[in-house]
Amino acid sequence: MSTTFPDLKQANFSKQDIIAILGATSDDKIEAVRSAAQNVLLENCGNKVYFRGLIEFSNICRCNCYYCGIRKSNQNVMRYEVNTEDVLDVARWCVNQGYGSMVIQSGERRSERFISKITEILKLIKQETTCEELPQGLGITLSVGEQTPETYKRFFDAGAHRYLLRIETTNPDLFAKLHPPEQTPETRIACLRSLREIGYQVGTGVMIGLPEQTLEDLADDILFFKREDIDMIGMGPFIPNEETPLGQAPCSTAQERVRLALLMIAATRLVLKDVNIASTTALQALDPEGREKGLSFGANIMMPLMTPQNVREKYLLYPGKPGLQQDSSAVHADLEKRIKSIGREIGYNIWGDSPHFRKGVK
Ligand code: SF4
Repeated sequence: MSTTFPDLKQANFSKQDIIAILGATSDDKIEAVRSAAQNVLLENCGNKVYFRGLIEFSNICRCNCYYCGIRKSNQNVMRYEVNTEDVLDVARWCVNQGYGSMVIQSGERRSERFISKITEILKLIKQETTCEELPQGLGITLSVGEQTPETYKRFFDAGAHRYLLRIETTNPDLFAKLHPPEQTPETRIACLRSLREIGYQVGTGVMIGLPEQTLEDLADDILFFKREDIDMIGMGPFIPNEETPLGQAPCSTAQERVRLALLMIAATRLVLKDVNIASTTALQALDPEGREKGLSFGANIMMPLMTPQNVREKYLLYPGKPGLQQDSSAVHADLEKRIKSIGREIGYNIWGDSPHFRKGVK
């Protein structure tokens, strides 16, 4: 293994280079990585941060992921589904605020009722939000889990053009410790490839600081993003949830997981260069300035929480989620201030697609 720190301006990072970057602990090395990632971001994606208004459509899920607070077996969760009119209200609110895009996230379900409801909502959002500023309506990212290629195509034809499906980890042994046997990395990879074939901008991501996860695993995750030609990345630190089987799993300190998550954002930026990377709420849950830090380490997307307040506390994948009590206007004002405080601009009234996707003309 190389003992010298890698050249951060190089074009092609090896796995050992990525491991060395992720292992940076001294302030000067971490700052060198942050600064290099910021330069690569500005060169490839510009200074703008894009907002995607996030609505957590439903916490009903058919799956039992061992780390997730809304897993099917958690009896402490009151289940909900947002009605169509409330989703449309969020969409209109996003347009009025100048957001170019929204994200619809939900627990995974495969019933025809669920699929047709999502399809109908996608069509209605497009009809309701097409305007002079957004001639093709709001950009829509969908994140509703593993579905068949036919279902993905229905959603795409109805107006979703980005899809987020996190692999969580590419190490198969670790994946098996996070999921019941019926969930496999192979199925998830097949879904990601199917989404790409249909024409989506494809997003994935991982959890950082999982019990037993190594720097080598995380380097492999970044190389997986590259190999699979991923357009968008959403990842954050692992936060144990006491209501889940992994609630007591030993993991590193919160500070350590935040450091590693920021270095993962920076390393992903250095290696992939022109993808969109989200600065997630999980970062802010562990560090009050986590999301600004994520932006300064190379992220360029934020997903302000727009889920209606009466159900917001019921979509808790992990404890300590920020913004539960703030209304959408307060969330927006807070984020605007945070973004300006670090010298970045907000990209209003445009979709803010991943430059990587646009270059590929996929
Ligand atoms: S992580 Fe997603 S698929 Fe797994 S239980 Fe939670 S909501 Fe369901």
